[in-house]
Amino acid sequence: MNFIIALLSPNGLKSGVILMVCSILFCKPKLIPPLLDGTTSTLVSDQSLPTGGVDTLTYVMGKFDPAEHPSFSQVPLIYASRSGMYLRSEALEAFINMSTAATREGIHLKIISATRNFYAQKNIWEDKWNGRRLVENGQNLAITTPDPIKRALKILEYSSMPGSSRHHWGTDMDLNALENAYFSAGEGKKIYDWLVKHGHEFGFCQPYTAGRLSGYHVEKWHWSYMPVARPLTDYCLNHLHNEAIQGFDGAQTASQINIVEDYVLGINQQCK
Ligand SMILES: [Zn+2]
Repeated sequence: MNFIIALLSPNGLKSGVILMVCSILFCKPKLIPPLLDGTTSTLVSDQSLPTGGVDTLTYVMGKFDPAEHPSFSQVPLIYASRSGMYLRSEALEAFINMSTAATREGIHLKIISATRNFYAQKNIWEDKWNGRRLVENGQNLAITTPDPIKRALKILEYSSMPGSSRHHWGTDMDLNALENAYFSAGEGKKIYDWLVKHGHEFGFCQPYTAGRLSGYHVEKWHWSYMPVARPLTDYCLNHLHNEAIQGFDGAQTASQINIVEDYVLGINQQCK
């Protein structure tokens, strides 16, 4: 009521016109990308979180197509090892700025993996779970490791469970090589040392460092764009539960392994 009276006063009329112009210019209907698994969610997107119209739980679990999402951009081939990779536009812009600065110092950064949604991660996970993809030392886990918990923990040394990966968010990327040894000497060491020294100036943090109490092994190649990733990590702390991690072979192990607390939140403190 007060609002209507305010609009009827001379100053209020001006405000009313401004409000109308604002709504015409800026309040475009949000694009809601479709869910891929045919489900609909009753959750409403938290507008304070950067999920671009996808409800936040669906977003953090990667159940959307980044190619169809309004906040994602394709990584130009000049910065990538292959075409067809996507990142959040803010993360890509920050990476390009970082890469440009690095190039000036003779450091060449290359994105070798970017956004992987739930369905892409499910393929990776199930290939390892079912022995179609061998893990290190040529092990076929379906044969060598019948115990489900032990098998899941083995895969989790380097691969996330579908629904629990930071790669779902569009904020995280793997750079240059997927081996810590590469970053321990020569060109790789120069790249890693540069990232440790300068990454934070562009908003990047290494989530899987040495010395953490739980979570994935060290990954010197994995870097995360914190201005978007930090609020999503906070969201997971409060709203993502082990029981939500489901829909793939071996998902029954998620609660016993405590996937959310030990893996999603088992990151470098500086990235929180
Ligand atoms: Zn990674």
